[in-house]
Amino acid sequence: MKRWNGWGDENVHYALPPSAQEYLLERLGPLNPGPDAPQSAMIAVLGASRLPPYPGLDASPLTRLLHARGQSLPDWIDLRYGRVTTFPDGVAFPTSIEEVAQALNYARRAGAAIIPYGGGTSVVGHINPLPSERPVLTLSMTHLTRLLDLDQDSRVATFEAGVTGPLLEQQLRSHGYTLGHFPQSFEYSTLGGWVATRSSGQQSLGYGRIEQLFVGGRVETPRGPLILPLAPASAAGPDLRQLVLGSEGRLGVITYARVRVKPLPEAEEFHGVFFPSFEQGMRAAREIVQGEHPVSMLRLSDALETEVTLRLVGASWATWVERGLRWIGYGPDRCLLVLALTGSRARVHRTRREVIALCRRYGGWFAGPAVGRQWQKNRFRAPYLRNTLWEIGVAVDTLETAVPWSRLPEAARVIPTAIEQAMQAQGERVLAFAHLSHVYRDGASVYVTFLFRLHPDPEVLQARWRAMKHAASLTIQQLGGTISHQHGVGLDHAPYLEAELSPLGLDALRSVFRVFDPEGCMNPGKLLSE
Ligand SMILES: Cc1cc2nc3c(=O)[nH]c(=O)nc-3n(C[C@H](O)[C@H](O)[C@H](O)COP(=O)(O)OP(=O)(O)OC[C@H]3O[C@@H](n4cnc5c(N)ncnc54)[C@H](O)[C@@H]3O)c2cc1C
Repeated sequence: MKRWNGWGDENVHYALPPSAQEYLLERLGPLNPGPDAPQSAMIAVLGASRLPPYPGLDASPLTRLLHARGQSLPDWIDLRYGRVTTFPDGVAFPTSIEEVAQALNYARRAGAAIIPYGGGTSVVGHINPLPSERPVLTLSMTHLTRLLDLDQDSRVATFEAGVTGPLLEQQLRSHGYTLGHFPQSFEYSTLGGWVATRSSGQQSLGYGRIEQLFVGGRVETPRGPLILPLAPASAAGPDLRQLVLGSEGRLGVITYARVRVKPLPEAEEFHGVFFPSFEQGMRAAREIVQGEHPVSMLRLSDALETEVTLRLVGASWATWVERGLRWIGYGPDRCLLVLALTGSRARVHRTRREVIALCRRYGGWFAGPAVGRQWQKNRFRAPYLRNTLWEIGVAVDTLETAVPWSRLPEAARVIPTAIEQAMQAQGERVLAFAHLSHVYRDGASVYVTFLFRLHPDPEVLQARWRAMKHAASLTIQQLGGTISHQHGVGLDHAPYLEAELSPLGLDALRSVFRVFDPEGCMNPGKLLSE
């Protein structure tokens, strides 16, 4: 069963070795286990549903609570400290495109706001109901998961938008194909959610981000359906698909999506390469991507992230790697690059040889297959660490941007520093570190993780988080980076959007949303503050 106030399956635990706990204690100070409020505490404050009855509408307290929050840190604080105060008034579970349209009509007649809900894995407040006079209908896509069509000649698959990562891949794999879209939230996030948030999978370098994969589909808007026809390329004016990508539920409900698929690769390997410094690793990563070596993933951790990774794993292979690195003279600045090679056996073999030679020129040391294999094994298990950390008293959050290569060394340094300074001002410590998670010819994303102690008072904890988030967001703005490379805008990034899109740009978006949704009932308050 899915955890209601944490990440993932209740039966999956990510154990931390005692040495990892000692390390966190040493870096952050004494830790106290985090709270775990019972469901009953929140159900007790839940008012009666304001929605009129409707066939299939679930207005039970538990269902409303289970759809009240996503996976952001403020969401976790609300759930774990028992502070959830806004809930949907009911949840509809359509089983067909027609039922989606009917639910939209019903909601409009009831004067309700509508929140499209995929997997609920948003980390920026996308699916949270806001306090409002209007009732709120959450529209769950959980029953719309079928593969509708697979055009093997064109290598285009059409799926209902509520399909999760595992279900999508399972259906494609039985025909010998893959989408290759693997966000870390793969286990629960959905195709509709990926499109609506402009998501990026871990192997986007090889397969493309969702905007390169999404080629058409259907959006049920309050004014009727918007059909995005399939054309391999088009000069018929601005591309409306780009309006749907990143629309965060504001235009309507994506009911099905067409996506580019590829035959399953013959071979795939993950490798770990250590560099003496971040600068050297970055130069190697840049040369790999600009030299167009067919690599499907490059992920370079800074020195602190490398240290934390090795310490938290604590396994015997990590000890051997540490010894090896000391033996070859790599000091505390060593950085880990994880890369993936995907394709035909011959191509993987050739690329491996080329990339090994290239990395060596920058001091790269291939650590053997264990590091890459370990990364691959844990790629979707890592989010479970959030549960374990919370249980011992540590909160963890992440944020991300993308900047050109010329600004990358500075970005990877100053964003974690801004977070540290925000906590220093409060007399608290934080472990803030970064990695380049997605690389492009002209730049890369900087993905920052920060770990800090829980506090018995949720207001204090929330204020600390807000101070760090704000400091990091302002620093991103000063760097000219985007406020989000992959997580979207939702609630948490909305205050920073104007600086990126300009007042005119925001006005244009507002007008577009009004065209499709004149009464402003689609996910109000998200992406654009009203
Ligand atoms: C542990 C963890 C790891 C993550 N890793 C990544 C990562 O590697 N890459 C990445 O890109 N993101 C990542 N995310 C963020 C999140 O998974 C993505 O934003 C994802 O795309 C959300 O999909 P979802 O189906 O869960 O959408 P939801 O959270 O349910 O919704 C997100 C937004 O999309 C809208 N929406 C959802 N479905 C539809 C639809 N059918 N029609 C219209 N609008 C819709 C919602 O209204 C909402 O505004 C991660 C999140 C977590 C918790």
